Amino acid sequence: MATIIDGKAVAAEVRAEVARGVAAFRAEHGRAPGLHVILAGEDPASAVYVRNKEKAAVEVGMDGKVHRLPASVGQEVLLGLVRELNADELVDGILVQLPLPKGLDSSTVVQTVNPSKDVDGLHTVSAGALWSGRPGLVPCTPRGCLRLLEHAGIELEGARAVVVGRSPLVGKPVAALLLERNATVTIAHSKSRDLGAICREADVLVAAVGRRAIIRGDFVKPGAAVIDVGTNRDDQGKLCGDVDFAAAAQVAGAITPVPGGVGPMTIAMLLENTLIAARARESARHGRG
Ligand code: NAP
Repeated sequence: MATIIDGKAVAAEVRAEVARGVAAFRAEHGRAPGLHVILAGEDPASAVYVRNKEKAAVEVGMDGKVHRLPASVGQEVLLGLVRELNADELVDGILVQLPLPKGLDSSTVVQTVNPSKDVDGLHTVSAGALWSGRPGLVPCTPRGCLRLLEHAGIELEGARAVVVGRSPLVGKPVAALLLERNATVTIAHSKSRDLGAICREADVLVAAVGRRAIIRGDFVKPGAAVIDVGTNRDDQGKLCGDVDFAAAAQVAGAITPVPGGVGPMTIAMLLENTLIAARARESARHGRG
């Protein structure tokens, strides 16, 4: 039976660490790091995510604000707000909650965020920095996956890693981070042939697809570490991942559950990214950047 990697516990540790970092930052700079979230429209899931982010930011002592805009907000007004936040010295992190309501061009909005404040790590400058091994802000969920692997003591150097999914939000940055740690990385996607055979090669298997139980128990190499990013609903409406957890846990060496695995790490990493951004901006301001 696999070791269960407890994302809730690791996330709590990260949040406590960030809270200490925020207190030290405040003592040094006379202000707390500022996280600003833009929420346009009334999508209920987005509203819950944003409330959780707001609550978590307050808990670690950060400043900031949620900017709530109607679904009818025009692209220019939204871009105007992003530019205003870009120019505000007290704003360290800007997160635009996606998806945006119909009619708004999320790509343009995301690319308007100043890369030094891009705490979601979605700007092409952030993605380019990640793939070229330069310092920059890294997307939160992928950083969370790596933190869980580290916490579980999984050796990445020389390991065969398979990432299923190639989105700019999860699959690609996870693959980049694993490569940076000297894993040998394969990225599988919807056009990959014989997904099972590819996955069975993996010492480290990361599933980021969004399809319940696409990763079957017999896809898992005995002893492998399995990170399940997927969030799906089962027939009873219960949250579940991309991995057939019951079957995979019999074979894997370590595995993340859903819920309680990668999910809690995402907000913890957002807070950490905001602190990193704030420190980098203060260093640059004082000529240490
Ligand atoms: P996405 O943009 O829809 O990407 C899904 C990826 O899965 C695509 O690359 C797609 O391949 C691939 N895929 C689809 N069907 C496949 C198949 N049959 N075999 C192999 N690959 C297949 O989704 P995402 O934003 O990356 O998110 C992935 C999952 O993670 C979702 O369930 C999402 O809710 C979850 N998620 C969770 C968190 C969290 O905090 N826990 C954060 C972000 C995302 P193609 O590129 O070929 O289409």
